[in-house]
Amino acid sequence: MPKSAALLAACALARPAPGGCAWCGTALPARRRTWCTDTCATAFWNNHWWTQARAAAKRRDRYRCTRCGERAPVRPTRKRHPGERAYRDAMRAWRAARKTGRVEVNHRVPCRGKHRTLGCEHHLDNLETLCAACHRVETAADARARTPARGAA
Ligand SMILES: [Zn+2]
Ligand SMILES: [Zn+2]
Ligand SMILES: [Zn+2]
Repeated sequence: MPKSAALLAACALARPAPGGCAWCGTALPARRRTWCTDTCATAFWNNHWWTQARAAAKRRDRYRCTRCGERAPVRPTRKRHPGERAYRDAMRAWRAARKTGRVEVNHRVPCRGKHRTLGCEHHLDNLETLCAACHRVETAADARARTPARGAA
């Protein structure tokens, strides 16, 4: 993957080495061509590909808002709601709660719409899990901070 090679050369987290793992630089075992282990491959994707980085950030933050502690509604399981009727009711309540209670992932340094690009703006240390309400506050503050710069540019 030529595009990732350029990216990895400039990435602050990667320690690529010629002939070694593109993530940690360790000598590649036989039959490995880019990453020495799946762990290194996962670390790369978790820090550069938005869909995966977003999921990894939520896991890291335990599905809680890092500002106010609000937790995403937990998906019901059949074990916790025995019986078809109880399970269906719990699922219905969960879907309704999710509309307002879901958590989202914010870029501390805004990524300016580059969600579909492989890039270092998705490093996990640039991501934080927020509830919908805190995310709205954050997005509004960011928009305000950006307004004066527009005139200066
Ligand atoms: Zn490695
Ligand atoms: Zn919050
Ligand atoms: Zn990077």
